Amino acid sequence: MTAKIIDGRAVAERLRQRIAQRTALLKEQGLVPGLAVVLVGEDPASQIYVGSKTRQAQEAGLNHFDHRLPASVSTAQLVALVNSLNARPDVHGILVQLPLPAAVDSAAVLAAVDPAKDVDGFHAVNAGRLALGEDATVPCTPLGCLILIREALPDMAGKRALVIGRSNIVGKPMAQLLLQNNCTVTIAHSRTRDLPGECARAEILVAAIGRPKAIQGDWISPGAVVIDVGINRIDDGGKSKVVGDVDYASAVSRAGAITPVPGGVGPMTIACLLMNTVNAAIRSRFGAGAELLRA
Ligand code: NAP
Repeated sequence: MTAKIIDGRAVAERLRQRIAQRTALLKEQGLVPGLAVVLVGEDPASQIYVGSKTRQAQEAGLNHFDHRLPASVSTAQLVALVNSLNARPDVHGILVQLPLPAAVDSAAVLAAVDPAKDVDGFHAVNAGRLALGEDATVPCTPLGCLILIREALPDMAGKRALVIGRSNIVGKPMAQLLLQNNCTVTIAHSRTRDLPGECARAEILVAAIGRPKAIQGDWISPGAVVIDVGINRIDDGGKSKVVGDVDYASAVSRAGAITPVPGGVGPMTIACLLMNTVNAAIRSRFGAGAELLRA
């Protein structure tokens, strides 16, 4: 068996087209969704990521406000900036690029973001609403993973799903989304006793651990849908290369469908950020009952 390759670039492109269409309609109603990005310090990966967000936001017709601050910024200064963005009617989404410098209290900065503008879905209010099954802004990466799973498996009800990794930004919200979609969900982590055994039972497997090629192909249940969230930079004969958490070469002949790295989950994250921002703008203008863009 050779797996169907789930093309994250193509799926993200289709989503961006839907976003651009809705943004054009909103513009006719005098509403331009606005995304503010706060970038602290000189982290090269964060700068590349923020650059992509700026370009894609502009292409989709959103306003984009960049706030670049030196690594010496204090927690109080950042909270003050977030408060000023909370108060601006032209800013519908606020994204504080992580990681923040060690001296900054990241939790205090994220807690300051108005939950209505928390397009990353990291605020405790949105995490709580997601856990309660209420209308919530869902973190972008797991939301992108859900869309990719649907590409391969439109009805996932009753499927055994394994999420490997329990971070607040990927693993936990991913598990909540799968539960909402009526999967039977297991969450594995670094203390899980028999990871290969857990993998063998999974019909849907989402790997989000940050360990290059840790999940072996022969652990995977034949025909499973495999979503690889990992972005790991390795040395490949003197050249730097990005690989996932799954050993793609061995997994591709076991899985029923699989996301490549790069070109799988990565492109979905920014597309979902734009979707969350457009939805935040729609809610702010038309109220909670308004018709939103759906994943
Ligand atoms: P994280 O906060 O470091 O969490 C990693 C999780 O994996 C933890 O829950 C950890 O368990 C678990 N883990 C670590 N080693 C393990 C092992 N050998 N077996 C089983 N579980 C293990 O990472 P994250 O922020 O969730 O990110 C995970 C990966 O996704 C990283 O490669 C990151 O770069 C990537 N990522 C990609 C995107 C994207 O847009 N594609 C977005 C976000 C993250 P414990 O809790 O027990 O420590």
